[in-house]
Amino acid sequence: NTLSQALFNQYDDKKLVAADKAHYMHCFHIFDDHRENGALNIAAGNGAYIYDTHGRRYLDAVGGMWCTNIGLGREEMADAIAEQVRLLAYSNPFCDMANDKAIELSAKLAELAPGDLNHVFLTTGGSTAVDTAYRLVQFYQGCRGKPEKKQVISRKNAYHGSTFLTMSLGGKAADRSPEFDYLQDGIHHLSCPNPYRAPQGMDEAAFLDYLVKEFEDKILEIGADKVAAFFAEPISASGGVIIPPKGYHKRMWEVCQKYDLLYISDEVVTSFGRLGAFFASKEVFDVQPDIITTAKGLTSGYLPLGACIFSERIWDVIAEPGKGRCFAHGFTYSGHPVSAVCALKNIEILQRENLLEHAKQVGGYLEQQLATLKDLPLVGDVRCKKLMACVEFVKDKQSKELFPAEINIGEKIHSKAQERGLLVRPIIHLNVMSPPLTITYQQVDEIVETLREVIVQTAAELKQSGDF
Ligand code: PMP
Repeated sequence: NTLSQALFNQYDDKKLVAADKAHYMHCFHIFDDHRENGALNIAAGNGAYIYDTHGRRYLDAVGGMWCTNIGLGREEMADAIAEQVRLLAYSNPFCDMANDKAIELSAKLAELAPGDLNHVFLTTGGSTAVDTAYRLVQFYQGCRGKPEKKQVISRKNAYHGSTFLTMSLGGKAADRSPEFDYLQDGIHHLSCPNPYRAPQGMDEAAFLDYLVKEFEDKILEIGADKVAAFFAEPISASGGVIIPPKGYHKRMWEVCQKYDLLYISDEVVTSFGRLGAFFASKEVFDVQPDIITTAKGLTSGYLPLGACIFSERIWDVIAEPGKGRCFAHGFTYSGHPVSAVCALKNIEILQRENLLEHAKQVGGYLEQQLATLKDLPLVGDVRCKKLMACVEFVKDKQSKELFPAEINIGEKIHSKAQERGLLVRPIIHLNVMSPPLTITYQQVDEIVETLREVIVQTAAELKQSGDF
């Protein structure tokens, strides 16, 4: 990688900041903050490091947005992408048109996905993969003569994307501004399975029983003949790395079997090695979903791509010969040949470099090291499974009371870490992490030690200002 000061000298920072403020509306744009403080403008990346336009280096413990699994700046990826652009930059994915790379990738995903998830619909990212899953559920129920069985159940604090549908399916209260409308009909939300916030007095086993009963009660309340599917992330990512009670997914999956619900595992974050497996549903949580949605680590963020991978059982119904059906769903960039090549190269690198095994090992080390922060002031909970981690900050460890919103504790910790060259992602009172799978043991130490310093310093400052 040829990062030199000359690269950074070319940026006219004043012009860039002015243009950003005048024209570029970011994802989840925070208007007042952006107006005042602008943004951290990133210009380059290599491995787990990213560089701003001044050439300052940051260890990106967030992995972009849970996605830079193989790390940035890989020459062979750049070459593979460039080669495909020269050969075939685009190809129509509709009806009777296809391209060899989309076909090859679909076959590869069918091979990697658990059980009989042998059919693949390629999308443009995670939201469109979940949207596709939802439409597929409807289509399936319609095709099998159950048009009434179309309501779906999701969970509070879930994140499934940012389209109108997927935002409605998601259950993060913080994302639900009253100015927006959400689809109400046919979407139900269960409790978030966060053991740290279990109702008082409930141990993990009792909490698990409570969650399963809640699910079953909800199905019976709506009517099993009206409920089509259950949507769940194996570990809710943006909801704050919610690691459910042991056995949760298996029990929820069993309820799905009992009432003829499809189980949709949203593995947009948890797949492609983040939990040490290509797909976590079966290997880590021992469930066989009917549909898996994936994106992010599928291309390690090098290009946009998502996929909805589904079972023979669904295929057999929707593709029944002689019915003359068409699945009227698709995107201009479904099966994009360059994205497909990128995913294939990404999978090749993950396998060749044994990165899933490394993620397991180094993820175990991250779990261990982060746990040493538990005794610090402000730290209520530390949640980590392999390379998904979260530190939850509280005002009172005993009562688990949160700081008032205006203290902005997650942001405070994040900005202090950023000054020290470390990026962790603030979500209100949380900091989340999902480093590239290539992260080293030394970089894990750097993350944990920087966090320790920053937490201690923030606690001292809050004490001094009388807020803690
Ligand atoms: N599902 C999950 C579990 C996610 O975490 C996300 C994105 N953070 C999405 C879906 C949406 O993916 P995208 O932003 O690529 O549309």
